[in-house]
Amino acid sequence: MKFAIVSKGDARSEQIKGTMTQYLTDFELEYNANEPDLVISVGGDGTFLEAFHTYVHRLGSTAFIGVHTGHLGFYADWVPDEVEKLIIEIAKTPFQVVEYPLLEVIIRAKSGGSEDRFLALNEATIKTADGSVVFDVEIKGEHFETFRGDGLCVSTPSGSTAYNKALGGGIIHPSLDAIQLTEMASINNRVFRTIGSPLILPKHHTCLLKPIVDRSFLIAIDHFTTNYTNVKSIQCRVAEERIRFARFRQFPFWNRVRDSFVADDNH
Ligand code: NAP
Ligand code: MN
Repeated sequence: MKFAIVSKGDARSEQIKGTMTQYLTDFELEYNANEPDLVISVGGDGTFLEAFHTYVHRLGSTAFIGVHTGHLGFYADWVPDEVEKLIIEIAKTPFQVVEYPLLEVIIRAKSGGSEDRFLALNEATIKTADGSVVFDVEIKGEHFETFRGDGLCVSTPSGSTAYNKALGGGIIHPSLDAIQLTEMASINNRVFRTIGSPLILPKHHTCLLKPIVDRSFLIAIDHFTTNYTNVKSIQCRVAEERIRFARFRQFPFWNRVRDSFVADDNH
């Protein structure tokens, strides 16, 4: 089996990366950064996002696992003290795989017909540095509302505990194939009216955002933001692709939510 390690780059993460590389190589696993079967992220959730985007082109043949060197992470759930145990588990392959849904985003340009396609593990956000965003929101091909405000966040179930949560969105279990739309400070008056509540869309219910006022948009896919001009539409839906996690023990999603946000002393 081939593996690769993506480290946050700080001394502690680098040291763990070194130890893991050495031990796994001793177990006859091959370090291969180009075609890994297993990608180990050492750092935080941000590092895991980085690892995901580095290998997003080969999701079908890559499984991910995270070791956290800071506080408990949603994606990085193994602690440094457990690294030796984890190495033995990895060496005993094959391992069990758990899949989580992803968000597909297609940004189409007004002229020239070009389009960019992305997969997000957490979310996409659409904002502007230039006043308010104003766009028509279509769901399944039907006009739903005209949104005016700071922006919109479209998140995956595993991303529902990140930015989405700060916007008052619900926490969605990753066994549900869904995406969630949350508003950022929508303007509501007699002229503009939006639903105001987060919306949860199932698979195949495509959401299309069509800018009305020509602005440049700041479109973030997870931790990476791009400035777009000339945007015709932004299409969001549950992706066909999924992320695969290597699972060596149970750590239920709700326990992770509790340990991160409520208390971690009541196991
Ligand atoms: P960051 O500023 O370090 O991330 C913000 C926090 O979100 C960090 O504590 C990060 O954990 C945590 N996080 C990331 N994914 C999570 C998840 N799925 N569930 C719960 N917490 C999560 O930037 P970053 O590390 O590059 O992460 C980018 C993410 O930050 C974006 O995808 C977005 O979700 C989030 N974000 C949140 C807000 C907000 O809450 N107002 C604003 C902007 C961005 P680590 O410290 O372990 O990295
Ligand atoms: Mn971070």
